[in-house]
Amino acid sequence: MGYTGRCSCGAVELRIDAEPIAVRQCWCRRCQKIAAGGPTNNAIFRTADIIIDGPTASHDYVADSGNTLTRTHCPACGTPILGGSSARPQMRVVRLGVLDQGHELKPTMAIWTSEAPGWAVLDPAIEQFPAQPPAPPAPQS
Ligand SMILES: [Zn+2]
Ligand SMILES: [Zn+2]
Repeated sequence: MGYTGRCSCGAVELRIDAEPIAVRQCWCRRCQKIAAGGPTNNAIFRTADIIIDGPTASHDYVADSGNTLTRTHCPACGTPILGGSSARPQMRVVRLGVLDQGHELKPTMAIWTSEAPGWAVLDPAIEQFPAQPPAPPAPQS
């Protein structure tokens, strides 16, 4: 089993023939800017397992951690596709919204909850971190 996805306009398609390492929701202020005020919802996959077909554009910024974060989107419709950190080039976070319906991925952790707006509803059933949690275990090979 695997996952397929496409941006809003269809110019960018992706395929992932693997299971994610983790699925997280991020409430940091930077994520709120690309998620229209809400959190981003992200499935972390090995970079090597993600196949992207179509033109993409990206934007880099230096996070408080000192790492360079890269966000990739469709240049035509702006749909966020994925993100990555210079500290962990072997992993990428795929935005759940880009994946085709039918998958059962859902966040099991909310991070940067200290930056969430007052109206945010956080699922009490999932693990919560006020800021950056420890990195997920390194994928095998
Ligand atoms: Zn598009
Ligand atoms: Zn974030």
